[in-house]
Amino acid sequence: MVPPIRNALLRQATTCLRQTQPTPLPHLSRKATLQRLLSTLAVLEQREGKLNHSSLAAVTAAQRMGGTIHGLLAGSNVKPVADEAAKVDGLEKILYIDNSDYDKGLPENWAPMLVENVKKGGYTHVFAGHSAFGKNLLPRVAALMDVQQISDITHIDSEDTFIRPIYAGNAVLTVQSSDSPKIVTVRGTAFPSGAAEGGSASVEAGVDPKAPCPTEWVSENLAKSDRPELGTAARVVSGGRGLKSKEEFDRLIPALADALGAAVGASRAAVDSGFADNSLQVGQTGKNVAPQLYLCAGISGAIQHLAGMKDSKVIACINKDADAPIFQVADVGLVGDLFETVPELTEKLGSLT
Ligand code: FAD
Repeated sequence: MVPPIRNALLRQATTCLRQTQPTPLPHLSRKATLQRLLSTLAVLEQREGKLNHSSLAAVTAAQRMGGTIHGLLAGSNVKPVADEAAKVDGLEKILYIDNSDYDKGLPENWAPMLVENVKKGGYTHVFAGHSAFGKNLLPRVAALMDVQQISDITHIDSEDTFIRPIYAGNAVLTVQSSDSPKIVTVRGTAFPSGAAEGGSASVEAGVDPKAPCPTEWVSENLAKSDRPELGTAARVVSGGRGLKSKEEFDRLIPALADALGAAVGASRAAVDSGFADNSLQVGQTGKNVAPQLYLCAGISGAIQHLAGMKDSKVIACINKDADAPIFQVADVGLVGDLFETVPELTEKLGSLT
């Protein structure tokens, strides 16, 4: 039997405890709670007022992960581009910084500015395309924030676990990070570029620390072409060392590409031999492409080349060696001399149009 005085004290304590219990929150699943906490800043890359494909793919990747997504644009007169970016599906806010120091995408200028915006917004993630710009910028941002950088992801398992190919795509690495923020570059061909319409994000000025710029832009030398851009083209025609010379490459490959409305690509051996410009190289140390059709001639199919094109929807090849490894990944293969078959194919395609 509990003595009356102790009984009264117990009752008092229970009432006190009840009063200090927190009001129960409405039930939220772990996933829903996480989604509320996630916030990504997507770095938006643009050239001449057009957002590039890999930035839009980074937005899609962030959408798949969930949470709030803001975009960041910087450069001179960038406000109209920010207004356009506001229409991109999934973005809730666009931060823009109107300053010509950011025009050429120099990572030494961009990195401190991006860090300030990440800190101010308290973002959990920073995503950018795995383009030359993204690859240059995000490691610097990660170093300044003392976190690791996660490169070239092709899949998102969860908010802290990402998949990326390694060894020229021959192995797949799962990267789990406890860092905050997580600084991630996204492989453009692994995610669709997302709808550039349908959204209605707010647009506001971001933070510009106006840090002294340690690097000065001198000049650029751009290869101009009326053909589709290699990284985003729906069709690509590539030539390799089997073309034998620059003259033959220029005679055969662009003509076949034009007959298909395709971009021109090349193997590294073709680039190293001077047949094609370096900007056309497809592969591990070149561009990653994933077109609807990848047609190549005189390319053996080394793993470093496959790393850049094996995600193409249909792969077709022309090679005189029936044992060339390219036939192992090709959906359609033609064993034959390219100096005969390529002109014939070009002519037949031309007569169809
Ligand atoms: P080859 O391997 O010499 O093949 C030429 C092919 O043409 C042969 O299969 C031959 O049968 C065929 N051929 C010849 N004559 C004819 C004809 N008349 N008709 C039909 N077919 C013909 N390579 C890349 O492409 N991209 C990269 O990004 C890349 N990165 C690399 C990174 C590293 C670290 C290293 C070590 C290598 C890299 N390489 C890369 C190089 C790669 O290993 C190969 O050397 C290169 O891809 C070979 O190019 P190729 O197929 O044009 O030449």
